[in-house]
Amino acid sequence: MARKDPHSHADSDQPRARHLRLLLRVDFAARRIEGEAALELAAPAEGVLDLDSKALEVLEVSTGSGASVPFQVGPDEKVLGSRLRLSLPAGTREVRLRYRTSPDAPALQWLSPEQTEGGRHPFLFSQCQPIHARSLVPLQDTARHRLTYEAEVEVPEPLGAVMSAGPAGEGPGSRPGTRVFRFRMPQPIPPYLLALAVGRLESRELGPRSRVFAEPETVEKAAHEFAETEAMIARAEDLFGPYDWDRYDMLVLPPSFPYGGMENPRMTFLTPTLLAGDRSLVDVVVHELAHSWTGNLVTNADMEHFWLNEGFTVWAERRLVEALHGEEATVLAWAIGERALEESMERFGAGSPLTRLRTELAGTDPDDAFSSVPYEKGARFVTLLERTAGRQRFDRFMRDYMARFRFTSITTEEFLAFLESELPGLASQVGASEWLYEPGLPSNAPVFRSPRLDGLVAMAQSFARGERPANSATAAWSPSETLVYLQGLPREIEREGCAWLDAALALTGRGNHEILVEWLTLAAGSDYEPAFARLREVLLRVGRMKYLRPLYAAMGRHPRTRALAREVFAEAAPRYHSLSRRVAASVIEKYDDAPAS
Ligand SMILES: [Zn+2]
Repeated sequence: MARKDPHSHADSDQPRARHLRLLLRVDFAARRIEGEAALELAAPAEGVLDLDSKALEVLEVSTGSGASVPFQVGPDEKVLGSRLRLSLPAGTREVRLRYRTSPDAPALQWLSPEQTEGGRHPFLFSQCQPIHARSLVPLQDTARHRLTYEAEVEVPEPLGAVMSAGPAGEGPGSRPGTRVFRFRMPQPIPPYLLALAVGRLESRELGPRSRVFAEPETVEKAAHEFAETEAMIARAEDLFGPYDWDRYDMLVLPPSFPYGGMENPRMTFLTPTLLAGDRSLVDVVVHELAHSWTGNLVTNADMEHFWLNEGFTVWAERRLVEALHGEEATVLAWAIGERALEESMERFGAGSPLTRLRTELAGTDPDDAFSSVPYEKGARFVTLLERTAGRQRFDRFMRDYMARFRFTSITTEEFLAFLESELPGLASQVGASEWLYEPGLPSNAPVFRSPRLDGLVAMAQSFARGERPANSATAAWSPSETLVYLQGLPREIEREGCAWLDAALALTGRGNHEILVEWLTLAAGSDYEPAFARLREVLLRVGRMKYLRPLYAAMGRHPRTRALAREVFAEAAPRYHSLSRRVAASVIEKYDDAPAS
């Protein structure tokens, strides 16, 4: 027996599913999906087959020819969920499971109409990464096992469905008042890339191979924001080679979506907080697009190798930003990333094993291990490799890497072996072992500087001495420049300073959530009451974890903001995604409630 992924019951000695056929009936009233899953095996099999499941009610299991398959649902393990053990009769080529999901399946968020922009229809979306696919469908939920899939999704009219797959037609459903949407995913994907969303959706064409889907209230704004998608795809192809997934479509979700974006193939999921109105936050789209190669094409074998997905993707994102917006914009992006990295390192503690790139996560919930480390430390490691090898050689290496491992899932060690075979000596030259296996940031980390960045940092540092940049200067700042300046400011500012910032930079009214949230974090940490109304509004509306964590943390500094945080959280918690709720609760639990002086 060989269980290689610490977060899955899948056993590499057992039969392997290579294709999945799904029939999903979406029941908003019960907040359940009635599912039928057919797992086609790679070869006829017999004996034990262990699947992952979480909070699933398994009703019936049979073979493709209708023979009953005995099954046993194991105890609900905290991180992994329940092992679903099947005993296959000889010659089984296909296993069929009839099941239903639970109303609190971690993969699914059910939104009431009030939680949508339109306010009239419910909404459902999935988030299967890292290990939540098992609460949507019983399967071998490890990135080591890729599979193709097809699906039929029955939803109440007038709602529509999208999946991480190509559309394959639609028609009337089996019950009155329902409609069926069909999908086909011909490329093999790891299970965490299964994705489904159901809601009142419209779409707009963006280019020859891209469309954006959103609620009707948001779709025009989204089409404007992401109009440059085809140019991004073309630049990414320059870097990595042809785009292998046919179409690149996007879905803008309601604001409770816990991430900035999720790289579901053929249908990137995005937070509406990207809709700044001025295309200033499309870096996230660049990032998700880059995952079409790094992550979706070449995939981490499991979450202990997550940096292979995210480090390479942030590196690619910055290369694409450089190609699209120039070097200056890229230096600022690295500076903003550095800030995120420092915060993660601080949160875990410098010596924490979670600050390694190659992690060991047996017994650890990968959602708890999530941080900027695999992203930003990973991207710095890849950049060090690039700088040491030289860009031309390294770009050639990247194309070879993509070609060699496309549609496979690999470990850090497999990456290292390939690196050694293609660019011998490079790994030891840069101290790869320290980067991968030791905590913290090695001293040879690449540095990203420019006179512009230095000027902004110096200006921010002089703030405490009462110096203020001239209006003529701040008026010309790009959103990234404003953000870098704000990030350089002291974390607690007296009332006059806050008032000056808000007036000079028009912060409270910003549509750019990166700037808005940085400002509200400062204001909360400064107990600056005029910003509380906007702070409350953002916390009640937005579920993006990247924003909730610093906002709730900053609110822990003062008795008045602590009270506000608890009050807002009590109201917001039922609307947050379960991941967001957990992050916010963990921050609030750490509040130091020593009586205020
Ligand atoms: Zn990513």
